[in-house]
Amino acid sequence: MFGPVFVFPIFNKFTVLDDPRITRPILSLARANGIAADKVYDMDASRQTTRMSANVSGFGSTMRITLNDNLLRRGSPEEIQAVMGHEMGHYVLHHIAKDLLYFSVVILIFFGLLRWSLERALARWGERWQIQGIGDVAVLPLVLLLASLFAFVYTPFFNTHIRTNEYEADMYGLNASRQPDGFARAAIHLGEYRKMSPSPAEEWIFFDHPSGRNRIKAAMRWKAESLSRFVPGAGQ
Ligand SMILES: [Zn+2]
Repeated sequence: MFGPVFVFPIFNKFTVLDDPRITRPILSLARANGIAADKVYDMDASRQTTRMSANVSGFGSTMRITLNDNLLRRGSPEEIQAVMGHEMGHYVLHHIAKDLLYFSVVILIFFGLLRWSLERALARWGERWQIQGIGDVAVLPLVLLLASLFAFVYTPFFNTHIRTNEYEADMYGLNASRQPDGFARAAIHLGEYRKMSPSPAEEWIFFDHPSGRNRIKAAMRWKAESLSRFVPGAGQ
């Protein structure tokens, strides 16, 4: 919520995009989805990376749509609309607010578990390790060890939570933008830094976005089903 408005401008330059061929369909898509933005910003992300990205962020008067220059330069108009549909999905589905709530609970459980396991460990080995109690600074290495252990075990659940949100945004984006081919092309572009076709276990453990293969499959599924519903005689 704050990053794109207050933090990112420290590191990058944001300019208002005034190419109507790009902005008109994006702002129309925003209006169609009840997003109160009247400008599209361009961010010079190419200073740090070649990755294509965008976001819909802020609240009230800071509400904004931002595309990075990599997406603008390398993406076709269909691809840009598909990506923007996805980003608008995150916004309309309130993913940030829901995640703040969700991770508050996760962090609470994490600290509860940490305290419980620290007390158990100290009751058993505290004397041998010469740690006086949970308030003793000497407990810190044990805290780091246990915290790393919890984080390790939580990794696939964390990634799956994020990936599920991303899949929601994918579905929202396909339905909003109706650009399955643009979306598939974006998935191929993202394949530059994400393995396209991992095994299901690999995807479950490591992937915080659906794999390129699954994204393309979802886009083509959407296209096939929509063609057969909307275009008489097609997709049979
Ligand atoms: Zn996303």
